[in-house]
Amino acid sequence: MAGEGTPILTPDAAGIAQAAALLRAGRLVALPTETVYGLAARADSESAVAAIYRAKGRPDFNPLIVHVGSLEQARGLARLDERAEMLAARFWPGPLTLVLPAREGSGIAPAVTAGLPTLALRMPDHPVMQRLLEELGLPLAAPSANRSGAVSPTTPAHVAQAFGPAIAAVLDGGACARGLESTIVALREAGHWQLLRPGPIPEAEIAALLGPPVPLENLGIEAPGQMARHYSPGKPVRLEAVDAAPDEYVIGFGAVAGHCSLSERGDLALAAARLYACLHLAAASDKPRIAVAPVPREGLGLAINDRLKRAAA
Ligand code: AMP
Ligand code: MG
Repeated sequence: MAGEGTPILTPDAAGIAQAAALLRAGRLVALPTETVYGLAARADSESAVAAIYRAKGRPDFNPLIVHVGSLEQARGLARLDERAEMLAARFWPGPLTLVLPAREGSGIAPAVTAGLPTLALRMPDHPVMQRLLEELGLPLAAPSANRSGAVSPTTPAHVAQAFGPAIAAVLDGGACARGLESTIVALREAGHWQLLRPGPIPEAEIAALLGPPVPLENLGIEAPGQMARHYSPGKPVRLEAVDAAPDEYVIGFGAVAGHCSLSERGDLALAAARLYACLHLAAASDKPRIAVAPVPREGLGLAINDRLKRAAA
């Protein structure tokens, strides 16, 4: 089943045109971004969006991020206040998702926001994705291209393994450079803002522009980034491991060697980029358990530890 059945499109003009045609027709296509592969559908089609939830087995209370190719497109879908404009100018295209007040009548299918009055928007920084968005001219709803709760995909092979023929195609954009899902920031009224999911852009960089976070009471559903169990490799995971039992697959970091190392030199950016590939290897190995070396809780290490904690839950 590994890799069988998902057509893989090359990231040239013909492949991008084919992906765009499939998406226009309401089909699901997995697309490369700088964070992880996304399982995309046109965001204005209720049936196409419903197919994302079905394919992933995703609970329908869990809203999707909409990906745009331009700032004008973003402004047509949600209300960007001064703070949003400032963050977009600084971090877009890039791994920052903004949760903003949705515009009525923008044409976004209601299932995308799972009934919330807010819309999560991001402009991805991947040349293939950008060409596709430009050619398509439509916003795309795209959660990570994995079955709900499982390890996120950073290569076309991960996607093919998870979905086989259940999706129309995967557009090959190589391995994802960042390897972790976007940082999600909710901009609330009256100066309130909060981090909903740690990611490649550290909270401190947002706070440097907006001042320290001022959370509202939790409004209920929000990021499944917030679900305790997520990114699960399907076997027990032990964290902060500096030694290993014979039946453990070891994911190393720095001086702690492993069957797979996040980064032998202790480079956090590299560790983020490799995290899901190592978790996929660990899931596929014949070892029944997984041990992961300590990763420092600073900068990108905060987002890496957030994912590891949920993988181990
Ligand atoms: P993923 O499934 O990994 O693509 O994650 C998408 C993330 O965006 C999830 O954590 C969603 O809950 C979050 N999200 C999308 N729309 C909203 C919204 N309107 N408010 C809060 N979180 C959102
Ligand atoms: Mg996900």
